[in-house]
Amino acid sequence: MRILIISDIHANLHALRAVSKHAEGKYDRVACLGDIVGYGADPNGACEWVREYCATTIRGNHDRACIGDAVVQDFNDNAQLACAWTLQELTEENRQWLQNLPAGPLNVLDGGKEDFFICHGSPRDEDEYITDKMTACSLFSSMPGNVVFFGHTHWQGGYRIAPGRAWEMLPPKPTDADRLHLFDPDKGYLMNPGSVGQPRDNDPRAAYALFDSEDRMVRLCRAEYDIQGAQKAIIDAGLPSFLAFRLGEGI
Ligand code: ZN
Repeated sequence: MRILIISDIHANLHALRAVSKHAEGKYDRVACLGDIVGYGADPNGACEWVREYCATTIRGNHDRACIGDAVVQDFNDNAQLACAWTLQELTEENRQWLQNLPAGPLNVLDGGKEDFFICHGSPRDEDEYITDKMTACSLFSSMPGNVVFFGHTHWQGGYRIAPGRAWEMLPPKPTDADRLHLFDPDKGYLMNPGSVGQPRDNDPRAAYALFDSEDRMVRLCRAEYDIQGAQKAIIDAGLPSFLAFRLGEGI
């Protein structure tokens, strides 16, 4: 099975459409790691795309915050403003759909025969950030399976982990041709596809991953998209201008 893995769309429909076009013909199903809304100007468009095309979807902290969960109190001013705006903007149908999204970790494939999982933050805590080898390595005993895809940090990359050890698995500037082989059954693999709609790894292109569950290969990909269009939509919606600025910088 070839799976398109997307995360942290953040209501950026310009980026989401570019990813789906860039990956066209290269996948059989789509899994979404949450944060569908929040920050961007098209929450309903993003929800509707995910509802139509994603076979497996879990919630992120912004999905919870944008429908009124108390997690919003931990957000900075811009994120809180964006959440309040999103809550007003969402249709009742999309709001209810967000409310019913499951938390990770969840099996990527129906039936649970394979050991590939998705989560938003980390397998032990949906709000935890995996930003370094130490955190990655401490998750070894919490791994629900051999391979876990995670999001939340908006940094594309990954870690191979063992008890007491972790290795980073990202070439400095990955190209679409770089394939990472998740081959070792005694290790754990934590892989982050990056953020579709608000990359923060200094590369403003939309990020995603393609995973082939048969040969256990993952490819970390980037797609150019109409950043100016997404920025204009944010400004036109009256959202904080920093949310538009950061898209151009990848921060
Ligand atoms: Zn996010």
